[in-house]
Amino acid sequence: MRKAIVAVALLFITAGVMAGDSVPKIAVPASEVKILLAEASTLSGLPVDPSRPLPIVVSLPQDEFDKAMCGDKVKTCSVLAAYMDAYNLIIVGSQKTADLSTINGKALLIHELVHYLAQMPTEEYATVDGCTKEESRAYEAERAYLTSKGADASWVMNRTNVFLICVSRFGGGY
Ligand SMILES: [Zn+2]
Repeated sequence: MRKAIVAVALLFITAGVMAGDSVPKIAVPASEVKILLAEASTLSGLPVDPSRPLPIVVSLPQDEFDKAMCGDKVKTCSVLAAYMDAYNLIIVGSQKTADLSTINGKALLIHELVHYLAQMPTEEYATVDGCTKEESRAYEAERAYLTSKGADASWVMNRTNVFLICVSRFGGGY
């Protein structure tokens, strides 16, 4: 997923820091982000611009992540991670499936790093075609990463799943 409810999430993070509770933690050191970014670049074909700062990967407790990402729709929230381009942040929750020490967790980061590399303008992403193009590219890189590590990639969304989600998000009168 990409920059869901960016302003709300940032507000939440800022409020958390100010209140001194649940300060988001840096989840992955920059040295590891750099290695994964190189892999995301190879797998997606998108070049790394060395002049851009690396994204910062932070983790939040799952309930707070769900609130930041999905607000009142927490019960149906299935977001595992998000790249927020306005703040160059990748945020992840603390579900087992998002454990960044595992291959699946790293695959999730590869997905978000493809969003970082793509730099698709917000207006373009907020269309069915833009969303389908960018999410498909990110999921393909995720699948290729898992496959290259000998892990099961059968659960990764295919283009049809991605299209349907993008229609539900941005379809409007489709
Ligand atoms: Zn995505």
